[in-house]
Amino acid sequence: MESGDLFILSAPSGAGKTTLIQRMFDQERADGARMVFSVSHTTRAPRMGEVDGRDYHFVDGDTFRELVAADGFLEWAEVHGNLYGTSRQAVEEQLEAGVDVMLDIDVQGAEQVLARRPDAVSIFVLPPSYQALRDRLTRRGLDDEATIERRLAVSLSEIECYEQYQYVIVNEDVDKASAALAAIVVEKRHRLVRMRDRVKSVLEAFDSKIPG
Ligand code: 5GP
Repeated sequence: MESGDLFILSAPSGAGKTTLIQRMFDQERADGARMVFSVSHTTRAPRMGEVDGRDYHFVDGDTFRELVAADGFLEWAEVHGNLYGTSRQAVEEQLEAGVDVMLDIDVQGAEQVLARRPDAVSIFVLPPSYQALRDRLTRRGLDDEATIERRLAVSLSEIECYEQYQYVIVNEDVDKASAALAAIVVEKRHRLVRMRDRVKSVLEAFDSKIPG
């Protein structure tokens, strides 16, 4: 069995990444395709509507540091004053089972994953402008003004890391941005290394039908 592909999606907060990921998983479910979202650990408090185990594994600082010490994370980083990390074991198990895995992580995490797994597919989502990002952060109403200012200040330094990514999506129109993300995923799945098992089964049918 060929192993799955590891996808990394990064974006400054408010660039619309969560919507893109949701739409992609809706489509994946409709197609019966096999991709899982990697649920990160974080020390951040849950926001309204967030569910432990679905959106994040919400843990305290001590638990997080124990996981770091036990080398339990493929990557981890401090983002906006909270700790976030990707479970190494969960990701590796899925990839080995032939399942694609999507990581929603920041630029520091992406750098660590790419150093360990250079074959990961890295995608950066950009807002179309500074003003668009500011408007989205304000409109979604998740954060207070001071938090929004802090997030905007971090955004520029995150955007400047775009060179470490293979693909860039400018999220001006969510339909077009979703189509671009889907196209990248589909393209990866059609590489010969991923299609070999399928080709073999087609050839086997030929072998059994055509007299030698
Ligand atoms: P939020 O708190 O808004 O859900 O996420 C804040 C930032 O943390 C986002 O840029 C998100 O991509 C990033 N993030 C979420 N999980 C992880 C993770 O496991 N590792 C890293 N490095 N960043 C993460």
